[in-house]
Amino acid sequence: MRLDIAQRHGDGLERTGPDGEGRTTGMTMVATSTAGARAADAGPGPGRAEDARLDVAGAAVLRAQRCFADCADAAALAEELVAQAHQAGHQRVLLLHTVARSRHRELEVVAARGDLLLVPGSRLVGTDLPRMTPSAVVELVPGDVRAPRLAVWGSALPGAAPLEVLAAAGGAAWRALTAAAQERAARTELASTELLLSGALRLAGLGEWSWDPVAGVVHLDGRLREMLQVPAGAPDPDLASWRGQIHPDDRGPFTGVEDPAAHAGTSAPYPFRVTLADGQVKTFLGMSVPLGSAVHTEVQGLVLDVSSGDRSTGELVRLAQCDSLTGLANRAVLDVRLAEALEVAAPGRAVALVLLDLDRFKLVNDTLGHQVGDALLRQVAVRLEEAAPAGSTLARLGGDEFVLMVPGVDRPESAAVMAHNLIRRLRAPLLLPGLSEPLVCTSSAGIAVGWEGSSDELFRSADMALYRAKDAGRDRCAVFDSAMRDDARAAHDAEHRVRRALRTDGLRVVWQPIVDLRDDRLVAAEALVRLQDPVEGLMQPSSFVDTAEDTGLIVDVDTWVLQEVLRQLREWRMSGSTMQVSFNVSGKTLEHPSFAHRLAHSVESTGASGASLLAEVTERTLIDLSSTTRASLGELHSIGARVGLDDFGTGYSSLSYLDRFPLAFLKIDMSFVRPLGQTARADAVVQALISLAHAHGMVVTAEGVETELQAKTLRDMGCDRAQGWLFGRPVAAELLTGLPR
Ligand code: C2E
Ligand code: MG
Ligand code: MG
Repeated sequence: MRLDIAQRHGDGLERTGPDGEGRTTGMTMVATSTAGARAADAGPGPGRAEDARLDVAGAAVLRAQRCFADCADAAALAEELVAQAHQAGHQRVLLLHTVARSRHRELEVVAARGDLLLVPGSRLVGTDLPRMTPSAVVELVPGDVRAPRLAVWGSALPGAAPLEVLAAAGGAAWRALTAAAQERAARTELASTELLLSGALRLAGLGEWSWDPVAGVVHLDGRLREMLQVPAGAPDPDLASWRGQIHPDDRGPFTGVEDPAAHAGTSAPYPFRVTLADGQVKTFLGMSVPLGSAVHTEVQGLVLDVSSGDRSTGELVRLAQCDSLTGLANRAVLDVRLAEALEVAAPGRAVALVLLDLDRFKLVNDTLGHQVGDALLRQVAVRLEEAAPAGSTLARLGGDEFVLMVPGVDRPESAAVMAHNLIRRLRAPLLLPGLSEPLVCTSSAGIAVGWEGSSDELFRSADMALYRAKDAGRDRCAVFDSAMRDDARAAHDAEHRVRRALRTDGLRVVWQPIVDLRDDRLVAAEALVRLQDPVEGLMQPSSFVDTAEDTGLIVDVDTWVLQEVLRQLREWRMSGSTMQVSFNVSGKTLEHPSFAHRLAHSVESTGASGASLLAEVTERTLIDLSSTTRASLGELHSIGARVGLDDFGTGYSSLSYLDRFPLAFLKIDMSFVRPLGQTARADAVVQALISLAHAHGMVVTAEGVETELQAKTLRDMGCDRAQGWLFGRPVAAELLTGLPR
């Protein structure tokens, strides 16, 4: 179904007077459908089938594109709309209008054929609207409250033929429509959820009870009444008699139910026995949770009869509480035990939560298959169980995430010793079925120790510690401390700042001169990014680049910097300068499949010269060299850009990867440059580096040159270029002087 709706000013109907006459303001189009007429034959009232049908119509609600008020030929437009309505399966079009009477004549020709009904818009607002039930509403211009919107509804007037109405409405009429539609949608959703739920309960053979402290009774549903052999017509029991039915040894989970708000609930299933009226003792499996708002809370419980059937109660309880792969406790059980442990924890008797995660488990699954992965998880579970202290709970949350919860811990150090022990045990080679070689799998752990606060907080803290352990190189554990929370908050703030800067043009580029050491002439400049924050002012990369790396935002940052680099390069070219420009490109950026391609395109479209570009990459990028990165570097190469290694000396400081990718230049990090001219050893190392780089045909640039002594030493060693405060700090482009020509 496709229909174009006639309309114009956004607030049309609201401006319509009680008679809707004489104003060229609003027009609304309505289509009555053949489907609607058929449904009307089938039976009165807006039943489920009709609702569904109306909702189908609602889903097809369309775009308002036409304007009757301003069109030259209203009759032609009406004809067009009628034709479209027919095509879409509608019987006829109802035009709810607030249009000047003078234009009615034009429309009456079409109306006379019976294809078009003219109805004053005011009638819709004043009379019919409250009795109509909207079935769907669609916003035409999201967020613009004045813009006309469409509604689809069926008339609920007794005896009236149900109409499917497509209408543009505004202002008060719109608000009334939306409110009614939302209410109905909510009611329908609730009803269907309830239906589904009761169906599911019936299918699963579950009985349901709920304790409402206001009513003072335990409501038992029909199924539970059957299970407990409650005589027909017997009233719902009060709490005391409900509990009285339960075997005295099994009443534990039912304590504290009186106060639903305080009842922590036991979402982990528990078994309980009940002696029935005929004397037989039946075993049930139950679980209960507090439900409701701050004002009114009830306890709701589900009950399964496990007395009969193939499985023993013990087996069923085990199934409900255990992780099926490893037999360890599952999340539900851990949650309950953790909440219980925290309840009785105190300083000196705190709860330790150890989150343990296998390092690179995904690789095992991907390369050796899921069966080996599963076998590994089972063996890990066995090893952890052997090492878990008495009274602790060991659970698997899914995947390779294990948790050890230990109550009664005196200090974080004790928990760290425990975690170390677990990691050490897991490190020992494992023999797995189907593998000829033993497998070594390391793991990382995050530890949080607490005696107040919620389970959630403890989990979050342990998670932060785990992240720290992974970040520090895996195969280790980290204990949560408040600095981690501060770091996490700082990273969060930094992320927010970078996002905002990208959105609001808040990034800047400054340029640091690079000189030729033979004559100290400016030959190139390195583009360094800055963030202009509305609160913090100009920020250095150290406060946001790491976060940008972690979140992947660095791709956008680098892309932005590069556009600026190309723009500046072009400006320098136009002024006759031969300046080269150096820029930093993160491994993540090179890993982005379209980066290099876009760069090549930009170079071409800005008319900049690729040969003047120096791309600085880090050792990490070359060590992790993936095929995408290699392709990106190749693309840089093909536009004439030179690729070089930045910060040499801060990472692995090995030139072994030079064979992996041809590098045009090497930048020696300032940590090597600082001691130059002061110790013979430092001088010897740098001399060797320069010779080695030259032997590979690379141009060598020394970074962080601050003193004349360093510059002289480097010059004597044959270093080609230098960058550092001695020659100039990073500045705005227009402040660079002595541009090369
Ligand atoms: P880098 O690429 O090694 O840049 C050189 C850094 O050393 C710059 O710091 C510069 O201001 C500083 N520096 C230069 N000469 C001296 C000196 O004589 N003494 C001292 N103490 N420092 C000097 P900055 O601007 O803070 O940049 C830090 C790092 O941030 C850069 O190190 C680079 O790794 C990264 N970075 C900067 N801009 C970008 C960018 O656009 N993209 C990416 N991915 N990283 C960038
Ligand atoms: Mg650099
Ligand atoms: Mg550097």
